[in-house]
Amino acid sequence: MTDHKFVYEFSEGDASMRNLLGGKGANLAEMTGLGMPVPQGFTITTEACTQYYLDGEVINDAIKAEVMTYITKLEEITGKKFGDPANPLLVSVRSGSRASMPGMMDTILNLGMNDTVVEAFAEKTNNPRFAYDSYRRFIQMYSDVVMEVGKSYFEELIDEMKEARGVKQDVELTAEDLKELAAEFKAQYKAKIGSDFPSDPVEQLFGAIKAVFRSWDNPRAVYYRRMNDIPGDWGTAVNVQSMVFGNMGDTSGTGVAFSRNPATGDPGLYGEFLMNAQGEDVVAGIRTPETIDQLKTENPAVYDQFVEIVSKLENHYADMQDMEFTIEEGKLFMLQTRNGKRTAAAAFKIACDLVDEGKITKEKAVSMIDPKQIDALLHPQFDAAKLAAAQPIGKGLPASPGAATGKVSFTAEDAAARGKAGEPVILVRLETTPEDIEGMHYAKGILTARGGMTSHAAVVARGMGTCCVSGLGEVSFAADGKSFSLGGKTFTENDWVSLDGSTGNVYGEEIDTVPAEVGGYFGRVIEWADEFRTMKVRTNADTPADARQAREFGAEGIGLCRTEHMFFEADRIAAIREMIVSKTVEQREAALAKLLPMQRGDFEGIYEAMEGLPVTVRLLDPPLHEFLPTDEDDINALAAEMKLEVAELKEIIASLHEFNPMMGHRGCRLDVTYPEIGAMQTRAIIEAAINVQKRHPEWKVVPEIMIPLVGEVKELAFVKKIVTDTANAIIAEAGVELDYLVGTMIEIPRAAITADEIATEAQFFSFGTNDLTQMTFGFSRDDAGKFLDAYYQTKIYESDPFARLDQNGVGKLVKTAVDLGKSTRPDIKLGICGEHGGDPSSIEFCQQVGLNYVSCSPFRVPIARLAAAQAALKAK
Ligand code: PEP
Ligand code: MG
Repeated sequence: MTDHKFVYEFSEGDASMRNLLGGKGANLAEMTGLGMPVPQGFTITTEACTQYYLDGEVINDAIKAEVMTYITKLEEITGKKFGDPANPLLVSVRSGSRASMPGMMDTILNLGMNDTVVEAFAEKTNNPRFAYDSYRRFIQMYSDVVMEVGKSYFEELIDEMKEARGVKQDVELTAEDLKELAAEFKAQYKAKIGSDFPSDPVEQLFGAIKAVFRSWDNPRAVYYRRMNDIPGDWGTAVNVQSMVFGNMGDTSGTGVAFSRNPATGDPGLYGEFLMNAQGEDVVAGIRTPETIDQLKTENPAVYDQFVEIVSKLENHYADMQDMEFTIEEGKLFMLQTRNGKRTAAAAFKIACDLVDEGKITKEKAVSMIDPKQIDALLHPQFDAAKLAAAQPIGKGLPASPGAATGKVSFTAEDAAARGKAGEPVILVRLETTPEDIEGMHYAKGILTARGGMTSHAAVVARGMGTCCVSGLGEVSFAADGKSFSLGGKTFTENDWVSLDGSTGNVYGEEIDTVPAEVGGYFGRVIEWADEFRTMKVRTNADTPADARQAREFGAEGIGLCRTEHMFFEADRIAAIREMIVSKTVEQREAALAKLLPMQRGDFEGIYEAMEGLPVTVRLLDPPLHEFLPTDEDDINALAAEMKLEVAELKEIIASLHEFNPMMGHRGCRLDVTYPEIGAMQTRAIIEAAINVQKRHPEWKVVPEIMIPLVGEVKELAFVKKIVTDTANAIIAEAGVELDYLVGTMIEIPRAAITADEIATEAQFFSFGTNDLTQMTFGFSRDDAGKFLDAYYQTKIYESDPFARLDQNGVGKLVKTAVDLGKSTRPDIKLGICGEHGGDPSSIEFCQQVGLNYVSCSPFRVPIARLAAAQAALKAK
């Protein structure tokens, strides 16, 4: 360990060392290498952070010694000395991980100050106000960040001081006031911590380094990582950099600038600066910063130098840069550069412009966009200014993206009625069931107290493109179901709520939304993506309308049509319920006879929408708890329709109750017990295909019939025989030629590990990773939301396995099944239709294991097209 290098001077690194030095450190090194004016310093590596955690959250002696060697080097470079009143070295200590995590971790400025240094500094700079201001800022930051004293105590002291002096602004406080404030801050520190504020710069330094390492694991950083797929074991680097001061008087200043407009993508320098200020003043909003072009008049020489640096940096990194700079007594210093965060619209425009300007290739353009950002283009979003003024009152699962605002509605009927009348409503439910579909359709957004990322509400909302926040357990309903409380407030149907389905945030007020807008730049990039993609992108669609929507987004077929979902609508659900509660074959056949024409009609609509592209239709798979009627009116109506006594029907329903419906009488088990179900569905699938093929001889309609929830090859063979016997008879009778395929879902672990046997009967596999995740983890899809938070907090899991494929566990089953399946059927067609098919990191995994296609809900199709292209480019 002793010969391991944990610290690098800026002049020793470069941009390629991002993993080791973090983004900020690598870029400071790169700028140094490019000869740009960078205050010198060094970077303590991400490996040192990992070592810190391995050592039980201590900085070991070897690392400490190495840091001290580099402090000595920095003293030599700058000609200043740590703690030397005559010529003090003051440094900033900042975090910087591999991936940019803006604002998530900690920063400390002006480190090295103490009572003697500040005196000397005041004299040396001939600016006591500046010296004491720097000192009190340091005490405040150190106490807050390193010792976790809490900002508010110090802010109160500032407020008291301002009141005593009869002034309103911090800048109106005098040098004497600030000196007094520094003393009060130190007293406050002692009162809270029980010891004196450290005056030794070395002690200060290691306190600060430790705080930065520790901030890697603060709750907001952990949450940010989960949202952005950043692994917890990357760690953060620490940058120690000699301070330059923007608050040294009127020839000093500080600012932030982007090389292009981060909101629109428009070319041209964009940014703000403040003279006589330190970095935090620009963001704090106490004084209004000036736009960057004002710098031209303020200091033309610095402005010209800055413009030149900006253009050099953008060309060098071939991407829009976000930069921080400071001017110290007329001299420009670059403190940071990084690829700038940008809105979705800007991301596409910048990518296209950079290609047009000849700065990047189309491959790079495709690779540089975060596919998750596409959501923001396809769904309404909150008005940014209104959102900034709002405070969330709760946070659930970000189940279906977009933003929605509306008045509360407690029942699906009410939501449908008010929605139809043009009123914006948010449907708030304990959980949703198929009965709620119409209300879900007319609601602007859906909020549920229960349910995970693959619960009914989540899957259906995503399919419809409706914003949904699920699993917000804190929503508590009044006994009469006419109000709920959240965040200490009670909501009735006259109250507004707003949902952010991309973050899971819930707001107890109206927040304006802006409509989705897909521009031409998006179209260009997505077409380039299609050139590089090797996997196909299909969609999960259950109705002709969804299928058409998916086609518009570029779907190349249907990977999953959940046939039970065709019956969600109010006028149809009765038919499927009749089938479920049938006691006799006759009753069931009567119900099936009602279902047949509806299914055939829908299949025709879907084949038409897909214009000859492949369509995978799955046989019925209705988990009983989602479909059995619970509402008294529904039960009465069903009894009347089936000519049963209500009591008798209730008995049947009670007898169908299951303890674990997700592992109950569903999937192909239904066809094993009631073969007539599979036969009816096959008839609908094949007859629809024959009809559409006749109408469109130019297409080749090849239905793919998929048998769900298979765990054993004999079970598959049994159901497959029902399918093929029925299909062949119909085709022969019609006297036509029609090809069709029969395959299965791999969604039970046993199917995955016996996939070589299964493949002898299956022409294709489609990985149902929702159930496969549920059954591999033994986590209920509907209930996991309740306890997964505890798993994130305890770092047992970093992300929701229902949203992001667990590559290490579930992924192994997928890989095993792929290999085994190919061993007995080398040309087997392989796809995925679980919700992971729309998740970029999971899509990359699908590319790696060699799937032929991914299938996802319509609104995720563009995301999947881009993610699949990125995965293919990565694999090159
Ligand atoms: C799955 O289990 O992954 C799947 C696609 O099927 P469902 O979500 O309908 O159970
Ligand atoms: Mg399933």
